[in-house]
Amino acid sequence: MKFSEMPYTRVDMDEVKNFFEQLIEDSKNAKSGEEQFELHKKYYDYIGDIRTNITIAIFRHSVDTTEEFYTKENDYIDEIWPLISQYTTEYTKVLYNSPYRDYLEEKIGKVAFKNMELSMKSIDEKILPLMQEENALVSKYDKLIASAKIPFDGEEYNISLLRKFLTSGDRDTRKRAWKALSDYFLSVTDEIDDIYDQLVKNRTKQAKELGYENFIELGYNRMTRNSYRRKEVDNFRKQVKESFVPFVMKIQEQRKKQIGVDELKYYDNDVYFAEGNPQPTGTPEDIMNAGLEMYKELSPETAEFFDFMIKNELFDVLGRKTKKQGGYMDFLPKYKAPIIFANFNGTSGDVDVITHECGHAFQGYLTRNEEIIEHNDLTMETAEIHSMSMEYFTYGWMDKFFGDRADDYLKMHLQDSVTFIPYGCMVDEFQHIVYEKPEMTPAERKQVWKELEKTYRPWLDFDGDEFFDNGGFWQKQGHIFWNPFYYIDYVLASVVAMQFKVWMDKDFKDAWNHYLELCKLSVKDFYETELEEVGLKSPFKDGTIDELVKNFEAKMSL
Ligand SMILES: [Zn+2]
Repeated sequence: MKFSEMPYTRVDMDEVKNFFEQLIEDSKNAKSGEEQFELHKKYYDYIGDIRTNITIAIFRHSVDTTEEFYTKENDYIDEIWPLISQYTTEYTKVLYNSPYRDYLEEKIGKVAFKNMELSMKSIDEKILPLMQEENALVSKYDKLIASAKIPFDGEEYNISLLRKFLTSGDRDTRKRAWKALSDYFLSVTDEIDDIYDQLVKNRTKQAKELGYENFIELGYNRMTRNSYRRKEVDNFRKQVKESFVPFVMKIQEQRKKQIGVDELKYYDNDVYFAEGNPQPTGTPEDIMNAGLEMYKELSPETAEFFDFMIKNELFDVLGRKTKKQGGYMDFLPKYKAPIIFANFNGTSGDVDVITHECGHAFQGYLTRNEEIIEHNDLTMETAEIHSMSMEYFTYGWMDKFFGDRADDYLKMHLQDSVTFIPYGCMVDEFQHIVYEKPEMTPAERKQVWKELEKTYRPWLDFDGDEFFDNGGFWQKQGHIFWNPFYYIDYVLASVVAMQFKVWMDKDFKDAWNHYLELCKLSVKDFYETELEEVGLKSPFKDGTIDELVKNFEAKMSL
């Protein structure tokens, strides 16, 4: 069904209440595992319809935030969502404690039950006020960042609009833009320090009230780390320090030549070529058409997928004034349809929508008939493999998007992907130190960051900048505020996607078939088990990262 023809019905909370009360009672009284599973299937249908309605409303609101009807529906959803979550948690407890647990675990999966356990360990009524305060602090940070008015060359810009100057091919322009950004952060850094200080103390308090020693364990549970914990992540970062950091140093030397400077400064960091970074050559329509051709050629599965997306109007990607910022992929369970939201703005980010977001959507499409919805409750280190690998699988088609700068784009993509790995680990290690010692002062936290920069990004020269050179950089990394310990997921997924890159360069078809296999597995099994099943290596195991770096160095002639 076309998205425009999909009906929307407001979720009736009386009905939701009745449904869950009945479900919980029936489920408790079930006389067998079979009976309880049949009831669980009713839950699938019901929650699937609710999610579909909610996704439709939020999407229609996002594409035109001035439209009245869906603005009201969006507000209504903000109000009811916590209640619906509460009902589902109550119901989950019944399942978790079922006398027919073995049967249910057989049907729904051991991953699902482990996730239920982690989620129950992460929440309790007594920390609700603290959680509300936490949300308010996060919103305060978001508002501060979103409302930035940065004067530059006689105009005012917000951070995202300033970006095109931060990456300008003209060195003087980007140097001045970075100075403008630094001045802005310097003007709000005390306020951000204060927000973060409160967040750290708040989260620590939540952890203590739930009986944890500090926030780290709780943070891992909130991130549904169901099969690897701190020890494994520590070992991963150790490998990155040993293997990736020296590799990235070499890339920086290469980049120095590419942009034609004697010394790399921090304002050169996101620039890859003297003539500036490659941009897509065509209109948004050209990009969509190129995507259609590309997916037709890539495989029968992707051809069917992209065709389905276009026919059912499941893309809304053109940038418009009244549209919400950002981009995402979501899923409409009732119609078994992925949906993609984006704001094309003429940069290579537009192509990421066709590669990265479509990677997520393609996985959703491949598993759309999966009966057990828990099998698709993706954790992020897995979900990002689907999208990041698609970026590599589509390398061969980049001339359709970047014309004669396709090779530049690929070079930039590789260099950028590799350079990201130590940075992502730094963000993660910073948070471990912060939550381990919540009593640190804001000044001490900045000192921690400054020290980590020396380990993870020793090539980066902040040129004595008053904000960035004094350990302030992390304040512009939203994930540190929104969702502690989330960031490492991108890094873990990225090194797995890189393994696919090595594989496809040897045997494209074979790599593709194993990628399909991984997508279809979804999260039926635990992370490392699934990787092994499709012939990939766990990032936590000694040697994986070193081998990957050697392969990549050879690929990039370093
Ligand atoms: Zn993604």
